[in-house]
Amino acid sequence: MTIRHTLWRPAYIGLGGNLGNPVASLASACARLAKLPDTCCLRHASLYRSAPFGNVPQADFLNTVAALLTRLDARDLLRQLQAIERAAGRKQGGVRWGPRELDLDLLVYSNEIIDTSELIVPHPGIRDRNFVLLPLAELAPNLHIPGLGRVANLAVNTNEPRITRAN
Ligand code: AMP
Repeated sequence: MTIRHTLWRPAYIGLGGNLGNPVASLASACARLAKLPDTCCLRHASLYRSAPFGNVPQADFLNTVAALLTRLDARDLLRQLQAIERAAGRKQGGVRWGPRELDLDLLVYSNEIIDTSELIVPHPGIRDRNFVLLPLAELAPNLHIPGLGRVANLAVNTNEPRITRAN
């Protein structure tokens, strides 16, 4: 059953991809986010080009972050994100940190802390990933992330230096 809240909640989505045409995939994913039920997409950040995480040889990723307002429950929002990934050609069970058409992560959902087998929010990778921190800081420098603090106060990870603005 889909749970719809009465109040609109802010949610931040990390988008990335490095297979096919990532510029087109991210644009299409942002358009799909804006059409989700009980959701509106407020803004998205610039595109960033980043070196892949992990040791799998592969092309650079393009990343951005989108800011939503939604009445969907966090778990329902995650399922909608997974449907958008599948529609972009994403297969289940790829290599960890391997190449992908589209990766959508629920970074922050209101001020909630969720830790289930299906969903961890705030997303555990936020603090270490410049391809999340930089676009998120563009959109919401004053956002307070539960357990992490204000976005603008989170230092960029200097062990992961290769990231550039792509537009
Ligand atoms: P990934 O390979 O990064 O796309 O990871 C997908 C898996 O992470 C799925 O099984 C999700 O259920 C799980 N997951 C846990 N927390 C999150 C989150 N905050 N956003 C997206 N996927 C999540």
